Amino acid sequence: MKTKVCTKCGEEKPLTEFYRDRQKSDGLSSSCKICAQAKKKEYYEANQEKVKASVAAYREANQEKVKAKNAAYREANKEKVKAQKAAFHEANPEKVKAHSDAYYKANKEKIAARRAECRAYQKEMREMQEEAGFEISDLNQGEQC
Ligand SMILES: [Zn+2]
Repeated sequence: MKTKVCTKCGEEKPLTEFYRDRQKSDGLSSSCKICAQAKKKEYYEANQEKVKASVAAYREANQEKVKAKNAAYREANKEKVKAQKAAFHEANPEKVKAHSDAYYKANKEKIAARRAECRAYQKEMREMQEEAGFEISDLNQGEQC
């Protein structure tokens, strides 16, 4: 069995214990799989904050872009998103109910406030409509309570 000595831990190991590395003359990494994994983990741990910070900075700098992209996606895939949602609801009625119950419990006041606001808005619109004496077509397409 062919073996190779890991330059990191100095152990002699079978070639299957080394990752491929095309840049090396023998086509194999100079350190064994275990050492390579440890190094990767070490790098990730050492740079976790840096990676996180750069992701956050990107988001911050491109907030509008990200938002616009999301909105454009939603707009372009309205039917798809709707169908996916409906299919999920159909397949997971218990899960959806539990989730919405939990959401409702956690956000009761927020939801109530939004509903009140929404009702006030609709009432205002209705009154405007009555005053104007004709239908405002946007009325029912606006906020749903
Ligand atoms: Zn090693």
